[in-house]
Amino acid sequence: MSHHKYKLKLLARLRELGLRLDGIEDALEAPHSKDWEEMAVEREGEEVLERLGESGQAEISRIGAALQRLNDGDYGYCVKCGSEIADTRLELLPDTPFCVTCAG
Ligand SMILES: [Zn+2]
Repeated sequence: MSHHKYKLKLLARLRELGLRLDGIEDALEAPHSKDWEEMAVEREGEEVLERLGESGQAEISRIGAALQRLNDGDYGYCVKCGSEIADTRLELLPDTPFCVTCAG
């Protein structure tokens, strides 16, 4: 099953949060690339991240991790127990790393 629609959702959310994404997708696909988050910070500077505050930064981290899992082919599986995460859950929370049981 393709998770492409979730990738689009995650990228759209990053845009909403105010990050410009030029090069971030390329960076994710390139081997030995810099950490995507580090790259986002470099591009946007402290100012944007300060404005986003801690909750926004935490969200960016979750989204970044989800994008990396998409890239690695691990997306859609719980990072804790390895179960497949239900589509209904991914629709609501595309950046979640946990199945409903482990998140509970
Ligand atoms: Zn789980």
